[in-house]
Amino acid sequence: MSSATRAETPQTHFQAPGFYRMMLGKDEITVLSDGTAPRSVDEIMSKPEVVRRALAAAHEDLPLQLSINSFLINKAGRLILVDTGAGELFGAHSGGLLLANLRAAGYGAERIDAVLLTHIHGDHSGGLSIGGKRLFPNATVYVDRRDVDFWLGADAEKAHPSLVRTIRQSHATLDPYVAAGRLHPFDGAGEPLPGIRAIPAHGHTPGHTAYLIESEGRKLLLWGDTIHLAEAQFDDPSISIEYDVNREEAVASRRALLAEAADQGYLVGAAHISFPGLGHVRRDAGGYGWAPAPYDAGQ
Ligand SMILES: [Zn+2]
Repeated sequence: MSSATRAETPQTHFQAPGFYRMMLGKDEITVLSDGTAPRSVDEIMSKPEVVRRALAAAHEDLPLQLSINSFLINKAGRLILVDTGAGELFGAHSGGLLLANLRAAGYGAERIDAVLLTHIHGDHSGGLSIGGKRLFPNATVYVDRRDVDFWLGADAEKAHPSLVRTIRQSHATLDPYVAAGRLHPFDGAGEPLPGIRAIPAHGHTPGHTAYLIESEGRKLLLWGDTIHLAEAQFDDPSISIEYDVNREEAVASRRALLAEAADQGYLVGAAHISFPGLGHVRRDAGGYGWAPAPYDAGQ
């Protein structure tokens, strides 16, 4: 066929479904992408010059497309979802793909038995409800009581007027579970579900929690918002983000989890490191580094 008669091939502009599978001992882990959200991270992080230099060195443009990753654990036949993405809170073209990617991975939302929240924030708990209805009708939601008290407490808006938007988003997506008796707050360290340990990492929010998943001696640390920007915060863990409710406490929690992950050799699943956000923390001169887990086609 001559080029004169050949129709132009249209561009498509969409990706393969965003899920990635791995085994952790006997548990099957499926990382689910909620998509990405564009963020001018230099405007919302401390040390903006350091942030801009780190991004320039990585040949990355601003705004950065920040991954939003959730983690599905099939443990002894029970489906546990850690974080839910943003749902409809961020609008079109900004997160909200979790349900489509869950379906692509082979599951309907009704199959989820439990949702563990690392914390209450739009891009972690926003996907719990769509249009005021529970997206996961058979799931109980687990979250540290400090976050429930802070975001859903009766006087929250009065106590934190600058956070009114997030407080209202929290009600919109969590209240349906409260009404159904499906919200289960827990207190700090413990084992909210068998084989899953809660590690308090307070500061980013008052109840921000990491979860350590263990099966047959293998361990996966799901650390929520411990790192927002891999390009800068491993090198300098003192860099904070304006979403931190208590910056000093958030920095201390980041340092503690980075040290524990490096020393224990945990595999880490990160909410905002480029999808699928799996890797290991290594100690580097003066700070830390990130070693992404190699891709495994599962063949
Ligand atoms: Zn957050």
